[in-house]
Amino acid sequence: MHIFVVGNIAVDETWTIDDLPEKGSSIFGNKTSQQPGGKGANQAVIFSRCKIPTTLIAATGNDHYGEWLHRLLNSQPDLYFPLLQQPCHTDTSIILNSQDGDNTIITATDAASALTLEVISQQLTLAKPGDLLVQQGNFSLEKTAAIFRLAREKGLITAFNPSPVRREFTTLWPLVDIVVLNHLEAELLQPPAELPCVITTQGAAGTQMTSFGRDYFCPAVMAQVVDTTGAGDTFLAVALASALRRGGNPDLLALQHASRAAAITITERGTWNAFPNADVLQSLLMQNA
Ligand code: ATP
Repeated sequence: MHIFVVGNIAVDETWTIDDLPEKGSSIFGNKTSQQPGGKGANQAVIFSRCKIPTTLIAATGNDHYGEWLHRLLNSQPDLYFPLLQQPCHTDTSIILNSQDGDNTIITATDAASALTLEVISQQLTLAKPGDLLVQQGNFSLEKTAAIFRLAREKGLITAFNPSPVRREFTTLWPLVDIVVLNHLEAELLQPPAELPCVITTQGAAGTQMTSFGRDYFCPAVMAQVVDTTGAGDTFLAVALASALRRGGNPDLLALQHASRAAAITITERGTWNAFPNADVLQSLLMQNA
């Protein structure tokens, strides 16, 4: 069993500033963190920490950020991140935190957009029927659809996390086996009942799932919330990994494992450092009910 995550990788730079700058002004600020990010990379890292061999098919730029990310990801056990450099800067999100508690985010997506279907197809050469291909909502509708079609031709299971959400993603349903989405995305996209597996997360209110004709509900695990960033990525990766490791479809135990893992992520600020590590995930995934 191998997981192919086709998506984005980025550098998240967080700055604190007093207030948003006026047009044409120059202001001081403090860079408070620089962390790897991007939903594709986040999910790939968690899959690999669940000890499932994972390939992240994502592009960086041809700059020092790209080299840094490449070194960092390939130092993680069970994770392979081929060098797919594009002639641009590595995708970056600049998060501006102003004193009044507001966030303003500037995101570049040049590297992700430049990754061609041809390169993605080459990276999927070794994929075997029954492997899992996971995508998020960062590519164009056409590219997302073409990748799912390619996956279907190879007999892969397709999983979709439609975030960032766009209304036109509803045209992708015939190509999707498993969809994992939050309640706002579910309201917009209304996944049809014919989909084999629909997992709808509802933050602290728990998770609903319809999987192969059966309905499930799993309450969230109570936790001291510090920062919910990455909770959704943790939930998705651990739920699918739990089912795959046991060789079955997503079930109640998969949701329970995922809820426990997500409850760990939300107790710390940040993403990769906040995600449960491989040892914690190993023992968590051995737990029954
Ligand atoms: P994010 O975008 O913040 O990563 P999301 O919007 O994709 O998350 P959510 O439904 O907010 O997804 O959260 C995913 C899962 O994380 C939930 O199903 C739940 O298990 C857990 N979770 C999120 N918020 C809380 C909370 N306040 N308390 C306990 N668990 C939570």
